[in-house]
Amino acid sequence: MTDMNVSKKGVFLIATALMVQLSVSAQPDRWQQRVKYTMNVSMDVHTNRFTGSQTLAYTNNSPDTLYKVFYHLYWNAFQPNSMMDARSRELGKIVYSTGRRGREESDWDQRVKDRILHLGPDEIGYQKVLSLTMNGVSQTYKVDETILEVKLSRPILPRSTVLFQMQFEAQVPLQIRRSGRDNPQTGVRYSMSQWYPKMCEYDYEGWHPTPYVAREFYGVWGDYDVTIHIDKTYLLGGTGYLQNAAQIGYGYETPGTKVERPAGDELLWHFIAPNVHDFMWAADPDFRHLVRRLPDGRVINVLYKDKHDLHQDTLWNNLADAAVMVLPYIEKTFGPYPYKQYSFVHGGDGGMEYPMSTLINNPGLGTAFHEWMHSWYQGMMGTNESMYAWMDEGFTSYAAALVQSYYYQESLRRHPDNAGLKQVVEKEKQQLPLNHFGAYSSYFNLVKSGLEEPLTTHADHFNTNYAYSIASYSKGEMFLEQLGYIAGAQTRDRILLEYYRLWRFKHPNASDFVRVAEKVSGLKLDWYKEYWVSTTKTIDYGIDSLWEENGKTEIRLKMSGTMPMPVDVVVLYKDGSKEMAYIPQYLMFGEKPVEDPSIPRTVFEPWKWTHPTYTFELNHRLTDVKIVEIDPTQRMADVDRKNNKLELNW
Ligand SMILES: [Zn+2]
Repeated sequence: MTDMNVSKKGVFLIATALMVQLSVSAQPDRWQQRVKYTMNVSMDVHTNRFTGSQTLAYTNNSPDTLYKVFYHLYWNAFQPNSMMDARSRELGKIVYSTGRRGREESDWDQRVKDRILHLGPDEIGYQKVLSLTMNGVSQTYKVDETILEVKLSRPILPRSTVLFQMQFEAQVPLQIRRSGRDNPQTGVRYSMSQWYPKMCEYDYEGWHPTPYVAREFYGVWGDYDVTIHIDKTYLLGGTGYLQNAAQIGYGYETPGTKVERPAGDELLWHFIAPNVHDFMWAADPDFRHLVRRLPDGRVINVLYKDKHDLHQDTLWNNLADAAVMVLPYIEKTFGPYPYKQYSFVHGGDGGMEYPMSTLINNPGLGTAFHEWMHSWYQGMMGTNESMYAWMDEGFTSYAAALVQSYYYQESLRRHPDNAGLKQVVEKEKQQLPLNHFGAYSSYFNLVKSGLEEPLTTHADHFNTNYAYSIASYSKGEMFLEQLGYIAGAQTRDRILLEYYRLWRFKHPNASDFVRVAEKVSGLKLDWYKEYWVSTTKTIDYGIDSLWEENGKTEIRLKMSGTMPMPVDVVVLYKDGSKEMAYIPQYLMFGEKPVEDPSIPRTVFEPWKWTHPTYTFELNHRLTDVKIVEIDPTQRMADVDRKNNKLELNW
């Protein structure tokens, strides 16, 4: 059996290589709407209100005639009895007796709770549209909480551009969630995300006027030109390149140049951001600005609220240095970062990603790496997060885990005597699956809780925050790690780069990703998506029995779970040698390449998922066998590993 399979594999690999070469040249084509915002706002730091004008050139690249458009008015969510408020209070009624962290816990977001209900008139957030025209003609519109609906006086024809002009005013809410002012935790004055009326996305599935209930942002790519007038003591950072650094200074100026600030109490900050789908800024009079300039001219900014605390200074400086250290690894593994700048900005209420920037409430590297990796799996991929939160949070979590691991290893390489680092790296090696142990254990707990819902659930519509977060972050992270188990780790790595190359700036969906994975791997993988994404079926393989026949060892495996997988079985013989018995899943129509050349591999006939057991034969006497183990890498999300390993004591 071994020989036959080896020669078959050789032929198969050549076929795969040809297929890959042919398929990579084809670029998928998906039309994208386009926006060009020019905004001018004036912030009053005493009333926390601002007025603004917005000119929006909107290009309809779709084949459809649009009779309506929708805008988001996110901050209207921060008003008593809003959908966000009602939803949070309802989730607060769900209390787990054992809790996801092992204690009694309510399901509401600890940052939101019932705080919106208690906001006073000066503390709520609002966005009011004062006027709206299209091509100079006044438009009628309706505002219902966080969505503005405009019935157009004339339709927007396919492949045409119209000009919307809007006057608006807004009040910055007391910080509840993501954006807002005066967060009690960080003290940062303004975290300005979701701050402007923003055109909803229209794509091949139609309009997405998703009300702001809890999460997930989906936007149109385009160019932003933003001018902010604000008290001159404030330092700003966020999305975009500052255009008038010589009149601002604060560390933005080209080193060695003279800063000349205009007279008056205000400064005018002018930013542009090309090809992004959102624009965030933050402002505080006590921001300290750290700058790291890369040899190629790119800039890493770190802005944090200076509390005259040496330890904090060290941590924020660490973050700036860590970012410089990991960037080459990130770009090699996940594709080039296309902007000239990235900014880590103190603010928000945890960590939240925005184009070219993040708001983080502390200098912890784990969160910082996570938010940065969103530049790939949100900023550039921009999957519809409501529908595919797992491709956004999950892929980001996957990438961040690798970046963090690289960071520790590279730090240890540079400081081999650091005992603390040594300990971290050693501990990482012991937790399987490598780098993703946390995601797997969270998922196994969710399965046990009985609260799991399929990944196809809309991000706002999960019954619990708990099920949403483990599904999207952990189960999404596992999707990629397990893909490495199915297709081979090196193949998975190539899939990610090809996905980046083909789909950045195109809003890919789950099928788009799977098609790339199929083309690169030469395997059929639709079944993997169907089971892992559309259902809550679980994997459980086990060793059923072993016996000897004609001097050979027969091993029978059983499938007790409801989701089929290929099976790696590693056998350790008494003489210390190892052998990998590899059983592809029938639905794959192929096999993964050898991942670890140090272990000889025998490829067996595929396992048909309709058959609950599978028997294979080893060319060894039973008494030669010491250990048989299914998937010793533990990358397969087997919910019961107790029956995966058998040790024979002869
Ligand atoms: Zn995230």
